[in-house]
Amino acid sequence: MHKIAKDTDFIDQTLGPIAQVDKFTGNLLEVNRMVQREGIAQPVISCINRADYMLDKYHNGSLRIRQVEVNAIASSMSAHSSTLSALHGYLFSKYDISLPNDISASIPENNSLTLVAQGIIEAFDAYNKNSAYILLVNEERSLNFSDQHIIELRVHTIRPDVKFVRRRFIDLPQLVRLGPNKELLLEDSKEIALVYFRYGYDPSNYNFDGSWKLRLLIERSRAIKCPSINFHLSGAKKFQQVLHSEKALERFLVQSDASRLVEVFCKFWSLNSEDSEINIARQLIDSDANKLVLKPQREGGGHNIFGCDIKHVVDSITDPAEQLQYILMEFINSPREHNWILLQDDANDKSRLDSADSLVSELGIFGSILADGSGVVSNKTAGYLVRSKKSGINEGGVATGYAGISNILLIDDNKLKHHYNMFYDD
Ligand code: ADP
Ligand code: MG
Repeated sequence: MHKIAKDTDFIDQTLGPIAQVDKFTGNLLEVNRMVQREGIAQPVISCINRADYMLDKYHNGSLRIRQVEVNAIASSMSAHSSTLSALHGYLFSKYDISLPNDISASIPENNSLTLVAQGIIEAFDAYNKNSAYILLVNEERSLNFSDQHIIELRVHTIRPDVKFVRRRFIDLPQLVRLGPNKELLLEDSKEIALVYFRYGYDPSNYNFDGSWKLRLLIERSRAIKCPSINFHLSGAKKFQQVLHSEKALERFLVQSDASRLVEVFCKFWSLNSEDSEINIARQLIDSDANKLVLKPQREGGGHNIFGCDIKHVVDSITDPAEQLQYILMEFINSPREHNWILLQDDANDKSRLDSADSLVSELGIFGSILADGSGVVSNKTAGYLVRSKKSGINEGGVATGYAGISNILLIDDNKLKHHYNMFYDD
């Protein structure tokens, strides 16, 4: 991620054509260009990220892991996921739950919350001014407020001297300005050391006067941003497509690392009509659409197109330039687990619960990076998030109402197979 983030030419080359047709990407790119041209004022750049994976049922029935995406902004659920791991561990021992035939099982320790809190503290310390504040930027009505508050609490527990403020993005134009040395000043008197974005990843977040002027002002300031604009851009889905081959990855990695990494990547196809792959992509859309996902350059759930809808969408985009903003990705064929979920029955009666006993799961791994002008200062990974949803539901996401938070149970795979198959035989 850091290698993409600092390669402004590569970012421009890759996202430039999309910026022509997608104003949101265009605005982010423009902010990045202006900040890079002017020179970075912040002492370090920071990113708290989460890479998401699903299990894929391979043609001979064996399982392999496939990367869904990498989130570079507002990576959430670190608080709830570590609380849930602790809760499940406690319930396991309280009720003396064990698997049949004494197969040992354990819930791995989940340090996601501490990783995120420490990432925030490390970035704050890099500003080197203890009287300054951390500013958490959030939405008008936060559904995920408890995740954010628990992070604030953990930061406070580790470092009671660090001051935290939360403000809504929409209110900030009236509240912030730059000081004489590009300090980011909130309400005139509070100097901001770190801006922690839990918002600002979707075009709809910018539907107010002065929103892009505000993002530019924040990015130009000395305050450290988590993520900085270039880290934010490095999470664009287009990079997954452009870097999915070993050869392409060698721009950033030595060959041995590149070949290990591509092992978890899905196949991707370009929809660029000038690309030789376009015919393969078209054929797949016509004959095998269920094995594909079409994705625009968006975050936050609900934007992807699955199965036979892909053809309708692709056919409806007549401008070849418009097609560039989509990536076509291999569908990850997750095995259906014997498991349980209770969800609110949003489709029918909100007061009723909907349940299912056939689920698919997605594993997220949290990371925290800090880099200065000369390179990576700190790059840590710890903790996880498991989200499970009913099988057959395409979209994921807890806040969006599709999935619930779940957990990892580590078992000895070889022993378990003899006694119990946790997946349905499809
Ligand atoms: P977002 O930025 O909206 O979270 P994702 O790429 O994570 O976008 O896609 C949203 C959800 O769609 C995922 O959580 C997953 O459940 C499902 N999904 C995404 N890509 C694939 C894929 N290639 N195969 C199967 N399901 C997918
Ligand atoms: Mg996602």
